[in-house]
Amino acid sequence: MSEEFSLTGISSVALHAAGNGHAEYAHIPPIYATSTFTFETAQQGMERFAGKEKENIYSRWGNPTFKVAEQTIAALEAFRLKDGDGAPLRLKALLHASGQAAMTTMFMSNLQAGDTLLSHFSLYGGTYELMHKVLDAAGIKTLIVDMRDLGLLEEAIRNNKIKLIHIETPANPTIQCVDIEAVTALAKSHGIIVTVDNTFATPYLQQPFRYGVDFVYHSTTKFLNGHGSAIGGVLLGRDIELMKTRVWKWHVLIGGSANPFDAFLLTQGMKTLEVRMDRHCSNAEKVAGFLSTHPAVAHVNYTGLADHPDHATAKKQMSHWGPMMSFELKGGLEAGKKFIDRLQMCVRAVSLGTVDTLLSHPASMTHYSVPRDERIRFGITDGLIRMSVGIEYIDDILNDLDAALGSN
Ligand SMILES: *Cc1c(COP(=O)(O)O)cnc(C)c1O
Repeated sequence: MSEEFSLTGISSVALHAAGNGHAEYAHIPPIYATSTFTFETAQQGMERFAGKEKENIYSRWGNPTFKVAEQTIAALEAFRLKDGDGAPLRLKALLHASGQAAMTTMFMSNLQAGDTLLSHFSLYGGTYELMHKVLDAAGIKTLIVDMRDLGLLEEAIRNNKIKLIHIETPANPTIQCVDIEAVTALAKSHGIIVTVDNTFATPYLQQPFRYGVDFVYHSTTKFLNGHGSAIGGVLLGRDIELMKTRVWKWHVLIGGSANPFDAFLLTQGMKTLEVRMDRHCSNAEKVAGFLSTHPAVAHVNYTGLADHPDHATAKKQMSHWGPMMSFELKGGLEAGKKFIDRLQMCVRAVSLGTVDTLLSHPASMTHYSVPRDERIRFGITDGLIRMSVGIEYIDDILNDLDAALGSN
C-alpha cells in the first residue's frame, strides 16, 4: 500500500495496517520463534546497539511478530484521530506478556516513590491489588475517589499532589463508566498524567486518545485476541519519544515481554474485531432486554438500559454499549450458585471477551476471599452474575439463560 492510500474503515485497518508483505512473500506474518538475532560483523552489531541500524537484537527488546501486533493496535487506537496540529495521530505500542505486565510498565515508568496516583473504586481486581500491594511497597500511594463526581475529584486534586489519574471504563463488574473527556480536561489543567484501561471497550467502541489522554493499555487476552487462546497486554503512548526511551527502557528491564506464538494468535484474532464486536454487541442488547424483564432477576447492570447511572456517559463516549453486563438474582448466594450450575451451553469461567459466552459468579469465584462487607461496598452482592455475551445464535443464549433461571 502506498502512503497516499488511506484506509477509511476500521476492519480494513485491522486487516492491513501492519502491511501485507512478509519475509519469503508469506501472506500471514511468520512466528519468529527466536530469542536472538544475528550480526554479520562487529561493526553492524555496534550500529544496531547505537540505534543507527534499526534492526532486531534480542527478543526481550522486540521481535518482528510482536511488531505486527503493535502496529495493528496502534493504528486501531489512532483510527481517524488527529494530533494537536491536525495531522493524523501517531502512537507507539509495546506488546507485553499480560495486561498486568503492560500496566506495571505504565505505572513504574511514570511514577516514583513519594508520588500519588488517583483512581476510581470500581477496578479490575489485579489493578486494585497492584496499586495496593506492589506500588504501595515501592512508596507510591493510591487515592480512590468516585470519579463520576467531578466535585470530589477536584477536591482530591486540590488537597493532594496527584501525579497520575488512572481511568478504567467501563469497569468491572458493575459496568460503571467514567467521563474520560471531563476527567482528562480537569487533569490536564493541573498537569496530571492520564492513563486509561480500554480493555472492556476495545478501540472499536471507544478511543480514549480522542480526549488527550497520555497512555492507553489493554489486556489483549480479552476482546482483542477474542478467542481466549493467549494471555497478553499492550501499552500505547502518544509521546513517541518518551515511549522509545524511558517507557521502553522500563519495559525491557522489568522483562514482561510477549512471546511470538501468543503475538501471532493476537494478530489472527484482531482481524475479525469489527465483525465479532458487532455480533457481541447486538446479542448483548437482546440479552439485557430479556434479563431486565425476567421475574428471577432483581436488577441488570448494562449501560444500554436507561436506568444505569452511567447511561449518559457511555452514550457520549462509546459507539455501542458493549458486550459486558452483570445482573443480580433475587435469591442471593444460593440462587447464584444454582443458576451457574444449571447452564448447559454458556461457559462457567472467569475472564471475558471470548467468542463464546462466559458467566461467572463473583461471590463464589473471583471475590470469594474478599470479606463480604467489603465486596458489597464495591457493588459485588451475593447474587451478582457477570456475563460476557458471546457471538452464538441469540436464541440459544436466551434459551440457556431462561432454563437456568427457571424456578430460582
Ligand atoms: C483481564 C484484565 C486485566 C489484566 O489483564 P491480564 O491479561 O489478565 O494480565 C486488566 N484490566 C482489565 C479490565 C481486565 O479485564
